[in-house]
Amino acid sequence: MRGWPTVAAANPNAAHRSLADLQAHGKLAGVITQNVDGLHSAAGSPDVVDLHGNLHRVRCLDCAGTFSRADIQTRLEAQNPDLRDIEVVLAPDGDAQVAAEFLEGFVLPLCPRCSGERLKPDVVFFGENVAANDATAAMARVQAADALLVVGSSLMAFSAFRLCQAAHRAGKPIFAINHGKTRADELIALKIDIPCERALPLLCNLVT
Ligand SMILES: [Zn+2]
Repeated sequence: MRGWPTVAAANPNAAHRSLADLQAHGKLAGVITQNVDGLHSAAGSPDVVDLHGNLHRVRCLDCAGTFSRADIQTRLEAQNPDLRDIEVVLAPDGDAQVAAEFLEGFVLPLCPRCSGERLKPDVVFFGENVAANDATAAMARVQAADALLVVGSSLMAFSAFRLCQAAHRAGKPIFAINHGKTRADELIALKIDIPCERALPLLCNLVT
């Protein structure tokens, strides 16, 4: 509840915008992302595969309904007015550290559909599996593509690494723009170690 406004206010950067531009010019078939902030879609990339889900949605673990986070946020704040102004420590992942004493009176919003009590951000938490339909959609994108461009990922999550394995097995070249080592270094044909916010606009200028 306290971390969300920061996430919701985030804007796409030059890397997000360049990928959308590349796609608009027919130079990129599609975007598969491990990010959960929705910024590729906000930048204009169509049909993004959100491999690890999307923080803009909330899912009910009882009835599997999905709801807009903005709507759930409105309920959270209305039901917990005392928590709106207390001091919190914001974490880079969108969480906020709240002192335990403030949590005792916390009022859970119920599922708008089934009144269940188990709502969660519709993202893949550490240790959870990627949703089968997202994994399938991502693999289909790779199979339809001529090549794979990895941007800003160490590929440590198997859900992303396996896409590189599939591309490599199919003889498709893999390029990466990434700082530091990736799990797929042995499969990558060319790696550029400069920030993607710089590299992608340059690439975009070259080919569009
Ligand atoms: Zn429900």
